[in-house]
Amino acid sequence: MPEIRRNAITGEHVIMAPERGKRPGAAARPRPVERRAAMQEGCPFCPGNEAQTPESTFAWPEDGWRVRAFQNRFSVLSPQGEVVRSGDGLHDARSGVGLHEVICEARRHDEDLKDLAADQMAAVVRCWQERYRAFHADARIAFVSLFKNQGLAAGASLEHAHSQLVGLPLEPEQQQRRAESFRRAWSEAGACLLCRMLALEEAHGERVVHRTPGFTSFVPWAALSPFHLWLFPRRHRSSFASVPDAERDDFAAHLHHLLGRVDAAVPGADFNLVLQSSAPVGPAPGDEPPHLHWYLSIVPRVNRAAGLELGTAMYVNTALPEASAQALRGD
Ligand SMILES: [Zn+2]
Ligand SMILES: [Zn+2]
Repeated sequence: MPEIRRNAITGEHVIMAPERGKRPGAAARPRPVERRAAMQEGCPFCPGNEAQTPESTFAWPEDGWRVRAFQNRFSVLSPQGEVVRSGDGLHDARSGVGLHEVICEARRHDEDLKDLAADQMAAVVRCWQERYRAFHADARIAFVSLFKNQGLAAGASLEHAHSQLVGLPLEPEQQQRRAESFRRAWSEAGACLLCRMLALEEAHGERVVHRTPGFTSFVPWAALSPFHLWLFPRRHRSSFASVPDAERDDFAAHLHHLLGRVDAAVPGADFNLVLQSSAPVGPAPGDEPPHLHWYLSIVPRVNRAAGLELGTAMYVNTALPEASAQALRGD
């Protein structure tokens, strides 16, 4: 019989219906992996075409960059101006002021995040953190979203490997609900929700995929889709902004391993990668609210959301999280 599971952080319900997919990979449609050229004429992210994009806000190495960040030419928000609120008493509006950058993760057109060498992967994550901190230093920004859309099904419009950062002038409602779950857990149990969840997953073990000194990754109890993954820092830390360098490199290596496992389970899988770090970033590291704990989510686009999801905000997962974890570990 299917089982309905609740996500303790978001409050979302997911219907686990493994009989709808005979095995974890059954619903996945592995794409024939296309060979791409190392450079592609007309790609604005390929080296030599830098004039088609705004100037760099980050480049590593400075000479002949391998990782590069710059303002999005088609920014969803305007970097100029101040936030002004308006409305008619029922409808609320505010000026669309915010920041939007692209992080080009590779120099070569044919490399994806999972293909990067260790030093380059570490540089991508360093770039994420530097730009994340820089966005938070802008007083108009209340929340920073870091994400990656890999493949057409995940919403990518250009195939050259890249991720994005969007700085918003407000904290989205979904984030406020998450923060409320953390606050409630902190006041009711006197402990961090994520630390408790991590202890439980570590003790159970059946949903755990990988462990490194600073991080544990597992398929969540109420995973939205087959191979959905959470990557948790083992040390209680409110914000991604305050992760020290050595821990950040461990995170990069762990993430790289996970992307390889996802690709082994569903070759060429499209996926979204989302940083969940909502704590306001203060001028001094460590002065963030103590009840929050940052993490990263990877959602392979294996199941398609449709009318049921739109009508109920409930998802159907065709693979049991325990079976997905087993497949990802390669047991
Ligand atoms: Zn390119
Ligand atoms: Zn914690």
